[in-house]
Amino acid sequence: MRVIDSVAQLRAALDPIRRRGGRIGLVPTMGALHEGHLTLIREAARVSDEVVVSVFVNPTQFTDAADLAAYPRDPETDAAMAASAGATVVFAPTPGEVYPAGFSTGIRVGGVSEPWEGTARGAAHFDGVALVVTKLFLMVGADAAWFGRKDAQQVAVVRRLVRDLNIPIEIHAVPTVRDADGLALSSRNVRLSAADRAKALAIPRSLSAAGAAVADGETDADLLTARAHEALRAAGIEPEYWAIVDPDSFAPLTRIETESLAIVAAPVGGVRLIDNELLSP
Ligand code: AMP
Repeated sequence: MRVIDSVAQLRAALDPIRRRGGRIGLVPTMGALHEGHLTLIREAARVSDEVVVSVFVNPTQFTDAADLAAYPRDPETDAAMAASAGATVVFAPTPGEVYPAGFSTGIRVGGVSEPWEGTARGAAHFDGVALVVTKLFLMVGADAAWFGRKDAQQVAVVRRLVRDLNIPIEIHAVPTVRDADGLALSSRNVRLSAADRAKALAIPRSLSAAGAAVADGETDADLLTARAHEALRAAGIEPEYWAIVDPDSFAPLTRIETESLAIVAAPVGGVRLIDNELLSP
């Protein structure tokens, strides 16, 4: 496994594989790797000849400077963990390598990027995601890329971007990996105290309660949403949003007639957590 920090070295490393017709897989990450990331890397390694894991805390997608500064970073452990899951290249560029002096291009995906995370974090968040993902796709020249359903709106934004710009890459979405108690794994979880971590379990519980109600025949999205808000408030959590949406457009739904997505964002002990669950009628 090689750790590479420049685009020129990355191209030099991957060109021979591409010329031989080998399949290159990409797993974009911001590091502080956990079992969720490793699941994406293992999935990529199953069907790729070369697996590039990018580790880059992308400054353009942070709309809060304190959040960017507090983001956990552990490059040595990341490289060892990525290798153990099947990565053949860790691409860990500096911000200056990705955004050299004079950088002045932007990408905006309209529609699906606007509600929920787009509103809560500001439009700059998905602009930054779209920009860095496009750059990584072009730098790596990957045949396929793996993303986590944990960031469901991000997957929808990336799929829209790839369709709109005719980027020749397959996008794979991997189910959310959870701890045994149900909390979705996140690099941000290390910042939760034990008490806040226990409190945060109300988030996945609110989603699975909605899933169970839908499986029992409930179709009224407003009623399900009101119940979820109540359950979160009872646990001392004030959600930024808890909603039921169309899984592709992220437009809010009033009735659950086809597969729908329950989405939630909530601060717990100063840590912003997001989660979601598919609801099947
Ligand atoms: P991040 O490092 O947070 O930007 O995440 C990198 C990739 O890992 C994204 O595609 C995330 O959706 C995915 N990911 C993060 N947490 C999980 C999880 N618990 N289960 C599955 N994928 C995840």
